[in-house]
Amino acid sequence: MINFQSILASINEAASTENDRGKIADYIPELAKVNVNNFGIHLQDIHQNSFSAGNADERFSIQSISKVLSLSMALGQIGEKVWKRVDVEPSGDPFNHLSLLELENGIPRNPLINPGAIVIADILVSQLEYPKKDFLTFVRNIANDDTIDYDIDVAESEKRTGFRNFAAANLLKSYGNLDNEVEVVLDFYFHQCSLAMSCAQLTSTFFMFMNNGKCRRENIFLTISQVKRINAIMLTCGFYDEAGEFAFEVGLPGKSGVGGGIVALLPNKFCVATWSPGLNPKGNSKLGMLALEKLTTETELSIF
Ligand code: GLN
Repeated sequence: MINFQSILASINEAASTENDRGKIADYIPELAKVNVNNFGIHLQDIHQNSFSAGNADERFSIQSISKVLSLSMALGQIGEKVWKRVDVEPSGDPFNHLSLLELENGIPRNPLINPGAIVIADILVSQLEYPKKDFLTFVRNIANDDTIDYDIDVAESEKRTGFRNFAAANLLKSYGNLDNEVEVVLDFYFHQCSLAMSCAQLTSTFFMFMNNGKCRRENIFLTISQVKRINAIMLTCGFYDEAGEFAFEVGLPGKSGVGGGIVALLPNKFCVATWSPGLNPKGNSKLGMLALEKLTTETELSIF
């Protein structure tokens, strides 16, 4: 039997003495208010046993981690038609790059870089009667947690400074790959990114990705094939131009966000979330990556 609790405690211990903690994302001014010394880790196994260390119950902005959830909802709404508007290839580029979008005629490389997630947001805005409310209900249902909410200050902050996302959305519109108005789609996108969750809540939300599409209450949200595909996209695209490094060092499908969160999972075994707001130069949590590398090294558990 692996003693997850003692491994998490030692990871937290190592993180607490780390001086070089990376740099907080400040292009969204509201995110820059967070204390760089935070560190939390929470692991939930397939039997719903939970283990945690550090600030695992403190909420933070999940940012791009939300892209996996919006993709899941869009697949439930329009199924395979999603793939007509967004591809499934890793980009090898930073999350906010626009160059490939032009080269590939407005079809984003994958749904986890910003332009791809903006297309997914457009699909949801078209499909849902009350997009922000309905998406929040979807996330709350998956997590079985009605306390999960948007952080309106973060959403408004990003709306004021999200110039690159406005550029991406306008470019998509010029290629005919955005059905709704740029402002409407980005309002939805900034809200989805502003979702606030703790590491513990993230493992409950992502439980279904390790449990063949079934949430903790055994309700089916995704088919086995859809989960397999989403996990494949997380592995190949979840860390932008550091996806190779994450697969190499950690060996799990996962997703990061510029709020400093990372969630990763081993199908049928466990789901783990870390939070440390300082980022490395590629925009992924510096200590979060180190923590997960330590976890899979010490437990000898990975998908490989
Ligand atoms: N909302 C952020 C953005 O669009 C999300 C980026 C991220 O978490 N990598 O820039």
